[in-house]
Amino acid sequence: MNIHIAEHYGICFGVRDALALAERMANEGPLTTLGQLVHNPVARERLEGLGVREGNLDKGHERVTHRVLITAHGSSDAERARWRASGHVVEDATCPLVRFAHGQLRRLVKEGCFPVIIGKHGHVEVEGLAGDFEGAAVIETEEDIADVPVHALYGVISQTTQPIDRVRRLVAALRAARPEARVYFRDTVCRPTKDRQEALRKLMRAVEVVIVVGGRNSNNTRELVETVRAAGLTAHHVERADELRWEWIDGVEEVGITGGTSTLPETVEQVRLRLIEITNQHERMR
Ligand code: SF4
Repeated sequence: MNIHIAEHYGICFGVRDALALAERMANEGPLTTLGQLVHNPVARERLEGLGVREGNLDKGHERVTHRVLITAHGSSDAERARWRASGHVVEDATCPLVRFAHGQLRRLVKEGCFPVIIGKHGHVEVEGLAGDFEGAAVIETEEDIADVPVHALYGVISQTTQPIDRVRRLVAALRAARPEARVYFRDTVCRPTKDRQEALRKLMRAVEVVIVVGGRNSNNTRELVETVRAAGLTAHHVERADELRWEWIDGVEEVGITGGTSTLPETVEQVRLRLIEITNQHERMR
């Protein structure tokens, strides 16, 4: 069996910097991240080992330390103000590319557009983007377009981890549904997400099965899984190496590995080594 690793995979600079900041701050004193710093169980366990807590204003203050950290997914200004008003020192690990998306939406609204965000309902980044614009519309699928209020001008951005093809398709669908309106679109899908999607497409040309490594609640990891399945190949989503099963690769000659933008490089390496290990074990038994 040959193992192919995607050209671009795993942790992006935004997540890497957020983790480094949280670790540095945890060494200086008690810290609570406002939600999951990254959507990856291995990275979260590492932070937990340093005493970092996860908190949420709506769930009460009991477990929240004086210093709190906004995650790489960002937050609305209103939410930041809420934490400050409740007496917390608010530090910020928002990724610069999420900030860019906030800035683009703010500019479009200033120019008179009604705000539209293409992304996943309820995702922390999408809530942060929508949070400062009351009534902002979120489009996750074509069906959501019917609920977008009628306006003459729309300003559209997207969650940074959406597949760009889907974003463009939804923008086209909005234009088709509102032919009388002007729809201004700003591409805010981040470069690391595009790189991982493009690298996966290249990888799929060489393999039969793809192992996607990453948190089950990681949006961009799940998008990688969906991309593989939509192309008619088999994808297996694992968070850790010990989830790999022999049946998945029995008889497979070319297997690929990729990982989402919150997946640590050591987890991908453990998956690669475990694939070799279980293959060798079964070779010996033949
Ligand atoms: Fe930043 Fe993109 Fe990484 Fe999100 S996935 S933290 S936007 S680089």
